[in-house]
Amino acid sequence: MTTYSDVPLMIDGAWTKGAMGRTIPVINPATEEVIGQVAHAEKADLDRALEAADKAFKTWRKVSPFDRYKILRKAADLLRQRVDEIATLMTMEQGKPLAEAKMETLGAADTIDWMAEEGRRTYGRIVPPRFDNVYQLVIKEPVGPVAAFTPWNFPINQVVRKASAAIATGCTIIVKGPEDTPASCAQLIKAYTDAGVPQGVVQLVYGIPSEISEYLIPHPIIKKVTFTGSTAVGKQLAALAGAHMKRVTMELGGHSPAIVFEDADLDQAVTLLGGAKFRNAGQVCVSPTRFLVHEKLYPQFVEKFTAYAKTVKVGNGLDADTKMGPLVAERRLHAVDSFVSDAIAKGAKIQTGGQRKGNKGYFYEPTVMTDVPLDAKIMNDEPFGPVVPITPFKDFDSVMAEANRLPWGLAAYAYTKSQKTMQAVGAGLESGMVTINHLGLALPEVPFGGVKDSGYGSEGGTEALESYLNTKFVSTMQM
Ligand code: NAD
Repeated sequence: MTTYSDVPLMIDGAWTKGAMGRTIPVINPATEEVIGQVAHAEKADLDRALEAADKAFKTWRKVSPFDRYKILRKAADLLRQRVDEIATLMTMEQGKPLAEAKMETLGAADTIDWMAEEGRRTYGRIVPPRFDNVYQLVIKEPVGPVAAFTPWNFPINQVVRKASAAIATGCTIIVKGPEDTPASCAQLIKAYTDAGVPQGVVQLVYGIPSEISEYLIPHPIIKKVTFTGSTAVGKQLAALAGAHMKRVTMELGGHSPAIVFEDADLDQAVTLLGGAKFRNAGQVCVSPTRFLVHEKLYPQFVEKFTAYAKTVKVGNGLDADTKMGPLVAERRLHAVDSFVSDAIAKGAKIQTGGQRKGNKGYFYEPTVMTDVPLDAKIMNDEPFGPVVPITPFKDFDSVMAEANRLPWGLAAYAYTKSQKTMQAVGAGLESGMVTINHLGLALPEVPFGGVKDSGYGSEGGTEALESYLNTKFVSTMQM
C-alpha cells in the first residue's frame, strides 16, 4: 500500500530539510485531510541550490549527449516501473482519477525518451565561406543553469518537459515545484537522480513562489527562466527576466474555443469534447472553454452534451469508477463558483450542475450553461474548472471572429467534415495549437505552446530543446 510521506528538497544530490526546518501542509483535496508536509526553502537553501547548479554545469555540459541520453532513458524506465506508486501519490495530493495519474506518469516517461533522443541531435552546421581556408562553424551550446516554475495541475508533466530538455542539452536546473502537489513531482526528480543524473544537475525546491522567483530570476548564475502558470504571473516573471536579459519560455493560460460546424459528426464532437473538458476537472491550460456550436446543431448539441455531463461520475480519484476528481484546493472551489454565479447573475441558464458537490472535499459538479452573455466573466477569463458555456453561431466569419476575440491563443478545437473548412480553420485561428476532429495535442514529438497572452516558446518537438541552447558562431582562418 502506498503511504504519503513528507517531501524534502533536493539540493546538490541530497534530499534535505529546509535550513530552518519550516514546512507547508499538503492537503488531500478529496478528503480535506492533511496528508503530509513539504519542506520550505529559505534563502540559504536557494544559495546552495544555485551554487550546486553552477558547479555541476561546468562538468555536465561536457558529458557527451550519448551518455546523457543513456541516463535519461534509465530515468524513463524507472518511472514506468514505479507508475503505480507514483500515480497513487499524485491522486492523493492532486485529486485526479488514478487512471489519469497513471497516464500522466507513463506519458512523462515517453517525454523523457523523446528529449533524451533529441538531445543527441543538437547539430550545428558548417556555413560555406567567402574566402579560401576559412571555416565557419555554427555550434549549439547549453544555455546554462535554468530556473523553472511549475504548477499543480500536472505535477509531473509540467516539470518533465522542462527538466528533461534541460538535462538532455547539458544544462542544470532548479525546479520550484508545486506546493499543493509536491510528492509526485519529487518522484520524478528521484527517477532522474536514481538513474544517475549527477549531483547538482537537478534541484527541487518549494516555498513561497514569489519569494523564490524574485530571488532566482535576477541571480547572475541563472541563465534561463521557464514558467507554466497563469498569464498574470507569467507577465510579472517575464518582465523580471527581461530586466535581467534572461532567456524565457512562458506556458501561460488559455481560453480555447471549441467550434462545432454544421457538418460535424455530432456524437463524435460531444464525446471528444466531453472527455477533454472534464479531464482533470477542467484544470488544464488547453481545456476546451468556449463551446461555439452552429445554430442548426445547437439544440441537439446542448441536449447531448448535457446528458454526457450528467454521466460523469465525480468522486475520490482513488475509487475505480471515478471519472472526475475534486478541484485541487479550496481556493479553486471559490474561484470556479464565482464564474458560475457571475454568469447566472448576467442571465445564463444552468442545464446541469452549477454548484459544489457535497460539503466534504473540493468537488464541483460538471456544469453546462447556455445563454451566457459575452460580458460574463467566463467568456473572458480562464475558468480552470469543469464548467462549459455553449453559444450558438450563424456563419464561419462570425465564429472565427469570436474564436479570435480574446487576448489568449493557446489551443483551439474544431469539428467539421469539410476539407475547405479544416484548412480555413487551421490557417485562421490565432492559436499556438489547433486540433481538428480529434484530440491531437501534447505528444512529446509535437510543438506545445501558445501565442498572444498565452506566452512564447514551445515545450514539445524539436523546439523544446532549441530553447535550452545558445547558438555560437566560430569563424577560423587556417594558417
Ligand atoms: P496562481 O496564479 O497563484 O498560481 C499558478 C501557478 O503559478 C502556481 O504553480 C504557483 O505556484 C505559481 N506562482 C504564482 N505566483 C508566482 C510567482 N510570483 N513566482 C513563481 N511562481 C508563481 O493561481 P492558482 O490558484 O494556483 O491557479 C489559478 C490560475 O493559474 C488558473 O486559473 C490558471 O489560469 C492558472 N494555471 C495555469 C496552469 C497552466 O497549465 N498553464 C496551471 C496552473 C494554474
